[in-house]
Amino acid sequence: MAGLEDLYREIILDHYRSPRNRGELEVPPAHKVEGFNPLCGDEVVLYIDVDPETETVRDIKIAGQGCSISQASTSMMSSAVKGKSLAEVHQLTRAFKALMSIHESKLEGEGDGSDLEAELEGVRLGDLEALQGVVKFPVRIKCATLAWNTLQQGLDEAEHAPSP
Ligand code: ZN
Repeated sequence: MAGLEDLYREIILDHYRSPRNRGELEVPPAHKVEGFNPLCGDEVVLYIDVDPETETVRDIKIAGQGCSISQASTSMMSSAVKGKSLAEVHQLTRAFKALMSIHESKLEGEGDGSDLEAELEGVRLGDLEALQGVVKFPVRIKCATLAWNTLQQGLDEAEHAPSP
């Protein structure tokens, strides 16, 4: 499967070199949230604009610095969730985390991936699938999931923030 791994590497490098949705949004109405991965020195900054009427991610901008995995993952996450409803974002988050964890347990000889299939049912991960090779390097999984953990934190905070 060298061909597939090359393709995945290309996708990751493309997002790393040309990150999508890079920039800032005005705060408020957007919510700013930062995430750190001290193990690798990765930093992720997200500006999330959720439309409370439709419960949709109206816009998202990203900033930060770090390794290619963390920054590519942040770029992919931003394109994946932009314009999506919060329910869809939640589903994507679960599917991506399943992709990261189930493959890990597969490598350890546990599980058969059926949970992953259940999580992924009806969810299109697109470019995010390129990150599944990361699970071969457990120390990098935190790099890949940083953007999603930060997104979740930001959405939680935004939800509980006092309305203007
Ligand atoms: Zn990293």
